[in-house]
Amino acid sequence: MQHHDQFYAHGQWHPCSSGESVPVVDPSTDQTIAQVALCSVADVDTAVRAAGEGFRAWAGSSLEQRRAVLVRLAAALERREAEMVRSFASETGCPIATGRFVQGLMVRTGLAAVIEGIDQVRWEEPVRHSLVRRVPVGVVAGITAWNAPVFQMMAKAAAAIAAGCAIVLKPSEAAPDSARLFCEAVAECGLPPGVVNLVWGGPAVGEALVTHPGIAQVSFTGSPEIGRRIMASAARGLKRVVLELGGKSAAVLLDDADFGLALPAALRACMVHSGQICAAQSRLIVPRARLAEVRKALLDQLPAYAPGDPHDEATRLGPLASAAQFTRVHRMVSAALDEGAALLAGGPGRAPGFSAGQYVRPTVLEALPEMVVAREEVFGPVLCLIAHDGDDDAVRITNGTAYGLSGALWSADPARARAVASRMHTGQVVVNGAAQNLAAPFGGVGASGFGRENGRFGIESFLDHQNLQGVA
Ligand code: NAD
Repeated sequence: MQHHDQFYAHGQWHPCSSGESVPVVDPSTDQTIAQVALCSVADVDTAVRAAGEGFRAWAGSSLEQRRAVLVRLAAALERREAEMVRSFASETGCPIATGRFVQGLMVRTGLAAVIEGIDQVRWEEPVRHSLVRRVPVGVVAGITAWNAPVFQMMAKAAAAIAAGCAIVLKPSEAAPDSARLFCEAVAECGLPPGVVNLVWGGPAVGEALVTHPGIAQVSFTGSPEIGRRIMASAARGLKRVVLELGGKSAAVLLDDADFGLALPAALRACMVHSGQICAAQSRLIVPRARLAEVRKALLDQLPAYAPGDPHDEATRLGPLASAAQFTRVHRMVSAALDEGAALLAGGPGRAPGFSAGQYVRPTVLEALPEMVVAREEVFGPVLCLIAHDGDDDAVRITNGTAYGLSGALWSADPARARAVASRMHTGQVVVNGAAQNLAAPFGGVGASGFGRENGRFGIESFLDHQNLQGVA
């Protein structure tokens, strides 16, 4: 059993002093595999003070120094990738193949995009008789979720390093091992002590961090519910916030789309990591006249997502990450059936063949756009199939939720694809299955939050403007 009982500050590990700890449970076996000690408020204070010192040392660093540190961080993370992928599987049920080819790839390409972004920021520009400078905001709190733990820590910490900020990370208490590995990598990359720090804990530690007077900005990735709480707490200290929250993203197929390409891609984009991805395409919106064909294609393709052991290289659908996740998905699917959604495949409850673990079946529901399951984030392998009656109707349905994080649009006509995609009220639209671009901004609108991460845009989230009037 692993014990994560030290927090990272001043470039060193220190014992957590609250005396409390929480278990980490492997969702494929329900066995406790680790304990995470929680930090006390005094530990949080130590980490924020360390970050204050780190910020004073790092704010004046050159762009070359920042780039060199991030290049070393990339190498240090790559050396630990296989170990991280194993910990994603043990702690969150993420299949090994998804850990490697989705999460590992995102960490590598995302960090490369931040390094590239350093040269794309306009650090200084003359504006009439002023010199306008981009200056670091100060000490940032980076609070992250469990589903893509290293990518989220990397996105925040690398952007902070590139901006000349310091950061105190508070990863999810549900996925500590990869956070520990991330800190080990940071320790190797030659930063002054205190630029990157890490505390362990849940809501109380998060709250202590957000309200600490030494924190200038909060960058949060997690649920809309906690995002609202964080924004309210940050408001008391007039702190800036970036909120990367949940989604109910739609894959929209227009009547001229290549269904042979679009349907497998849409199903994958819903089922990856058992649907526990903020940008999961959990609504499939198709022309009404093609419903029968789509039903058949989905039923043909679903067996590829049979639930299995996340440590098995062949598994594409692991267990849900926790008992809480299982209960949430079970309740939402049951409620959808009560509300009148039609079950095409899967259903509530434990997947057959498993006596332990948080395994559920991949589920497809035919739903009406106004049903709760078609409007709220399930965060599970649950696809809502919805019919549309033309482009305007597809846009109306797509924009009919409070969220707006991601989405997909499929059409054979580039002009039509661009026109319809532009009307989707969401931070990102993947047109015709284009590859992920981690140099472009990622973030939401509405209940999906605000602020942007990735590449230059993530760095700019941690910068302020300073106007030196008369210096130009
Ligand atoms: P969560 O909101 O429960 O927890 C996220 C983090 O907030 C954890 O570190 C948690 O300990 C901390 N926290 C909890 N209460 C807090 C408080 N009062 N003050 C400060 N911190 C607090 O989310 P989760 O269950 O870990 O993750 C799932 C959610 O995250 C989903 O809604 C998903 O869509 C979202 N998500 C969004 C993105 C994105 O980039 N937009 C990425 C991944 C996940």
